[in-house]
Order: sequence, then C-alpha cells, then structure tokens
Amino acid sequence: MLLFGNRKMPQPPILKIHEIFSSLQGEGLRQGEPTLFIRLTGCNLRCGFCDTRSAWEGGEDQTIAQILDRSLELRRDFPCDWICLTGGEPLLQDIGELLLGLKEASFEIQVETNATRPPQHPVDWYTASPKPPEYALNPELGEAARELKLVVSEELTAEDCLRLCSRVPAETPLILQPESNLGWSIEKGLGLLRQVLRSGKTNVRLSPQLHKILDIP
Ligand code: SF4
Repeated sequence: MLLFGNRKMPQPPILKIHEIFSSLQGEGLRQGEPTLFIRLTGCNLRCGFCDTRSAWEGGEDQTIAQILDRSLELRRDFPCDWICLTGGEPLLQDIGELLLGLKEASFEIQVETNATRPPQHPVDWYTASPKPPEYALNPELGEAARELKLVVSEELTAEDCLRLCSRVPAETPLILQPESNLGWSIEKGLGLLRQVLRSGKTNVRLSPQLHKILDIP
C-alpha cells in the first residue's frame, strides 16, 4: 500500500544560487558597510552595461537550510549585521522563506532589485534600480524602496530621473551611479545631478562603485 497514494510530498524550498560571499556594500547609501551577499541566479532583463552577466544562468540548487548555514558560517568569520540579496534579479524566485530565516538569524536585510517585480515581504532596505529602456518601476516597490539607484548609462536622461523620482516618496534619495566608474559616465552624472538639483530635488548624490575602486568582490 502506498502510504501517501499519489499525493506529492511537500518539497523543501530550493533556490538557484550563484554565489554567497562577504564584502563591503559598494553601492548606494549603504556604501562601505560590511555586508554578506547572496547572489541569486537569473534575470528578466539583459542590460548592455550589466556587470553580473555570469549570474544570468547556471548557479546551484540550494535549500534554505544550506543557504542559511553558509551565511552563518561566513558571519562567524566576518561578523556583520547586514545581508544583501542581489543577482541577477532576486525577486524572480520565491525568497519568502529565506527572508524569514535570515530575520530569525537577526540579519538586517537588503534586497537589490531592478524594480520590475513587486516586493515579496517587508525587508529592512529595498534598493530599487530600474533599468533602460523602459525603466519599469513596480508601484509597490517604489513605495517600499529606501533608495532609487540609477546607472548613468548612455540612455539615461534628466527626464527619466525626474519621472522616476515622481513615482517614489519625496524623501527617497536618488543615487546616480556612474556606469563601471567610467570617466564619460562620471561627467554625464555630474551634469544630470545639476539638472535634478535645479528641478528642486535635493536628496540626490553621485556615487561611484566602491568595490571596483577597492578591487574587492
Ligand atoms: S537588471 Fe541587473 S542583473 Fe539584470 S541584466 Fe540588468 S544590470 Fe544585469
């Protein structure tokens, strides 16, 4: 006799993980803070300037327990409060149970997202980073975001910046991030910053990628 008939036994949640590592947060307002990173595999966009293309595909299936074990092991060696889920696009996978587990382990949680998907759970810090050409911004995600981060790409215009700023709360800062710290992008970013300031939005900053300057992961 089959104990459970044809009914499927519940499977432990599995996530496709590209890498888990410790470093400093290199981007945005949290720049410089010691942070663990969980990079999830897969992205629904294909940005020309993407610097994490290796995370578009591949990765390793890991259970929530395995991911938590690895995170706690890293934290023993590099004690830090924050953990950042990034990608790829972390909100393409069902990260609910992972978020609960990380909270139980007393992590402060950041999720860096391209903002095309709604937030899955309240976390401590959503970074909304809409991407060209559409610059899609899910309205719920826009409300939840602690920062709006835009790569200063060839496509980005002051109109894009202002339109996106109008779709997040006024107190949400705008971070202009030069594309791979390239000179032309820094120069363009300074020009955009001036235009945004002149429009009346003052909580804006230009912020190069710190991890690339320091040559760390
Ligand atoms: S959204 Fe991010 S991870 Fe996805 S392709 Fe664009 S830059 Fe790369």
